[in-house]
Amino acid sequence: MQTNFSLAQLADPAMATSEKILRTCVHCGFCTATCPTYLLLGDELDSPRGRIYLIKDMLEGGKAASAEVVKHVDRCLSCLSCMTTCPSGVHYMHLVDHARSHIEETFSRRLDDRALRAILAFVLPHPGRFRLALWAAKLGAPFKPLVARLPRVGNRLAAMLDLAPAALPGREPTNRPATFPAVGARAERKRVALLRGCAQSVLRPDFNAAAIRLLTRHGVEVVHADGEGCCGALTHHMGRTDDSHTQAKRTIDAWIGEADGAGLDAILVTASGCGTTIKDYGFMFRDDPAYADKAARVSALAKDVTEFVATLGIAPVIESDLVVAYHSACSMQHGQGIRTEPKALLKQAGFTVKDVPEGHICCGSAGTYNILQPELAGKLRARKVANIERMRPDVIATGNIGCATQIGKGTAIPIVHTVELLDWATGGPRPAAIGRSAEPALQAAE
Ligand code: SF4
Ligand code: SF4
Repeated sequence: MQTNFSLAQLADPAMATSEKILRTCVHCGFCTATCPTYLLLGDELDSPRGRIYLIKDMLEGGKAASAEVVKHVDRCLSCLSCMTTCPSGVHYMHLVDHARSHIEETFSRRLDDRALRAILAFVLPHPGRFRLALWAAKLGAPFKPLVARLPRVGNRLAAMLDLAPAALPGREPTNRPATFPAVGARAERKRVALLRGCAQSVLRPDFNAAAIRLLTRHGVEVVHADGEGCCGALTHHMGRTDDSHTQAKRTIDAWIGEADGAGLDAILVTASGCGTTIKDYGFMFRDDPAYADKAARVSALAKDVTEFVATLGIAPVIESDLVVAYHSACSMQHGQGIRTEPKALLKQAGFTVKDVPEGHICCGSAGTYNILQPELAGKLRARKVANIERMRPDVIATGNIGCATQIGKGTAIPIVHTVELLDWATGGPRPAAIGRSAEPALQAAE
């Protein structure tokens, strides 16, 4: 794509990066075929190619974001399906991140939109505030029909109430800064940091508890680094760069302290949405003299938990005839390019694994998308759930808390994290989310 940025514009490193990305796009339109919003809406401006043109026009013209650009960029899920499809290697993620940041700086949103986004950014990255908000949502649940009728914000507030779990899990004892020693015998001991996360640690603390059991049983010492907080992904995708960088820096410092102290072989993440952002820290902080090196080190150490477990050589101690539908989160398959490890591990653990038809299409979760764009998110959830239920699985496995929450609200089939099944198969407890109906499927291995 031809561009016409001035030399003065290109002196800004963020603009220079976006200009390079824009030049790689050859307008072929292959990406439109796998874009969820284009599939739903059929509008070129809701396709990757259309958005790329809108962003180019906005940035090149040195313009403040218009309501039209904001509408179509807001509808983008950042699912990155377009990056997997693009034959030309267009780095849409960095381009849309820049656009979101530009929108945040130059566009004045409606008061209700601003307020909702500010509340989400204030609450979600902080487990204590999030837990309180979920209690409030529980109290507010009976008033959902009234809330839904409120002008302008009703549908979004109703979506928030919808996503709150009916019962909040209790506090998980391992969810604290601590070191969990290896218990399994291995010739080569390893030591990893495990991200505690923000929303996940409140909604499904059992995910990380299973990861700790699985890793320690296989000879890995696990540390929850003191001082670590949200990775910054949630606010990053809302264009709130200052918030996200502040959160990310705190977490980088905590991990670098561990790496320079007792040492780390890897930094593991059980939420692929967070993993995609952490792997991108090196890019995010490339122009920050105080953090560029540290951020690049963290990104180099970051791995999805399944990438690391795949190197350990797990062996099941039970036999199972459970059928697992594996839902690959967009951040897992498109963001991190992890497509084989989780399924291979589940098969190695003895489960029958089925692929979900249209597996490349987003479930509509996408961070805060299911709250900010509830209609589109609801349509994508219905499509995803129909595809999953057609496989008639006993259980759904995924590697991202957002997907687990979004899909779990649309089906009675239990949904668990991949590591919960791997932990169960190698000697851990049955995942709490799996009902008793699935239990007889397991017997002790010979
Ligand atoms: S990130 Fe997803 S929703 Fe956004 S343009 Fe790409 S394919 Fe479409
Ligand atoms: S597939 Fe890639 S090169 Fe083709 S229009 Fe989409 S982003 Fe541009």
